[in-house]
Amino acid sequence: MSRRKPSTSQLAIVDRNGEADGRQIAKKDRKLSFGERWTYAPAPEASNYIKLRDRYQLFINGRFVAPKSGEYFDSINPATEEKLTEIGSANEKDVDLAVKAARRAYKTVWSKMPGRERGKYLFRIARLIQEKARELAVLETMDGGKTIKESREIALPFVAAHFFYYAGWADKLEYAFPGRKARPLGVAGQIIPWNFPLLMAAWKLAPALACGNTCVLKPAETTSITALHLAEIFQEAGLPDGVVNIVTGAGETGGAIVNHSDIDKIAFTGSTEVGKRIASATAGTKKKLTLELGGKAANIIFDDAPIDQAVEGIIAGIYFNQGHVCCAGSRLFVQENVFPTVIRKLRDRISTLRVGDPLDKNSDIGAINSRAQLDKICELVDSGLKQGAQLVQARARLPARGYWYPPSFFTGVTASHRIAQEEIFGPVLSVMTFRTPEEAIARANNTPYGLSAGVWTDKGSKIFKIVNQLRAGVVWANTYNKFDPSSPFGGYKESGFGREGGRHGLLPYLTLS
Ligand code: NAD
Repeated sequence: MSRRKPSTSQLAIVDRNGEADGRQIAKKDRKLSFGERWTYAPAPEASNYIKLRDRYQLFINGRFVAPKSGEYFDSINPATEEKLTEIGSANEKDVDLAVKAARRAYKTVWSKMPGRERGKYLFRIARLIQEKARELAVLETMDGGKTIKESREIALPFVAAHFFYYAGWADKLEYAFPGRKARPLGVAGQIIPWNFPLLMAAWKLAPALACGNTCVLKPAETTSITALHLAEIFQEAGLPDGVVNIVTGAGETGGAIVNHSDIDKIAFTGSTEVGKRIASATAGTKKKLTLELGGKAANIIFDDAPIDQAVEGIIAGIYFNQGHVCCAGSRLFVQENVFPTVIRKLRDRISTLRVGDPLDKNSDIGAINSRAQLDKICELVDSGLKQGAQLVQARARLPARGYWYPPSFFTGVTASHRIAQEEIFGPVLSVMTFRTPEEAIARANNTPYGLSAGVWTDKGSKIFKIVNQLRAGVVWANTYNKFDPSSPFGGYKESGFGREGGRHGLLPYLTLS
């Protein structure tokens, strides 16, 4: 909840019965009526069988080893603020060992292995991920705060699918780029964020390995656990030692990877701010670079769109995974004549979203990943209020412990507001209006980012006209947030460069001659 109390004219609360729709409800009344509301009985996913280690070590050269520094940091369950375990903090020496192991494995085994053999390992890894999907999904939810619905039904199947997909490419590289010889680059340093921990690991590792590279991967400091369980899968699959190394730690560990002189390729997914730093650190070196950075996607709704379907798309676009999605449809542009209808339906719909225990199968919105991220969301919401926008928030009884934010949207937003320009990375939508397609395009493109966008209209011709003018790497039409391993993903402008997924996703890990 925003810590600055909005004035009543700036805050509207909507509840599950829709009774409060359009009314201003004083903050003191919120607690009174919620308990009387009808809701589902709790349906928590079992987690008592999950075996968390007291301490997680680094994974270097096929073994789990203690960090040279002897230092560990806590990993917290963001839904309860309880400490789950301790994670090793890798320093420059550990990163150096990991790079040396990766180089050795590259020279002696992996780059020499025929593609069809590499493919077999990747298929085996994919199958093991499927076998352990339930356990991995629970771990991902406990560690990161995302709902079990998402980790079990979306993230894990997609992680396995990614390994299956690139396993299929391993022996077909000569057909992927006909007439050209494809060679691996060497050692890839890969740094990933916390919003989709296993999925981002799969996006990085699967294509790199399929192409014959070896890897040093660094997960985000708040979500390292599942990457280390993935390392166990690599052991079980018999992946040769050193082909994948996982070093855990914060920004300094990432910096040690970026600055290591024997790395051939850096693949980074994370914030634009850190991405810019990495771009300048690697400039003038031999390192190839791809950057998958932030976004501020526009979802555009025309008056001829199927409005109910579009509202579901908005919900999926911004409230999915607590809004912790780089391609989240965080700006909504609504054609002026359907604005009241869309807003009414949106208010009704957010009032039905259940915020709470991420392990509960009925929860739609889980926990915010960390205190720092919650602070960032609150700060940006406060800025929206200070700049005069109106906030609509679902009435949600937020658990007493943990990091939570109710589904919210702003109206009265102008292009110059920070909430229209900066990535909030939380369940907060900025709604604006437009009159003509030209205005929609101009306003949608008016951001430093260019990762994704959505268009909702009944007219195919309008879709083609709009999508060709939107400066975004991915544009969905009459749907949102749909992914497939065979489809490339990536941005323009300050959203980065390079593509992950599909045949295009092989290119960052190859030299072609
Ligand atoms: P972040 O940039 O703070 O951290 C990302 C990773 O970089 C973490 O592992 C972190 O430890 C590491 N890191 C931090 N400082 C570093 C440094 N100086 N050198 C090297 N590594 C460093 O981002 P975040 O908060 O973890 O993730 C959220 C961001 O990621 C959002 O901006 C989101 O849009 C973006 N993201 C983009 C995509 C995409 O495909 N474009 C996908 C997911 C997330």
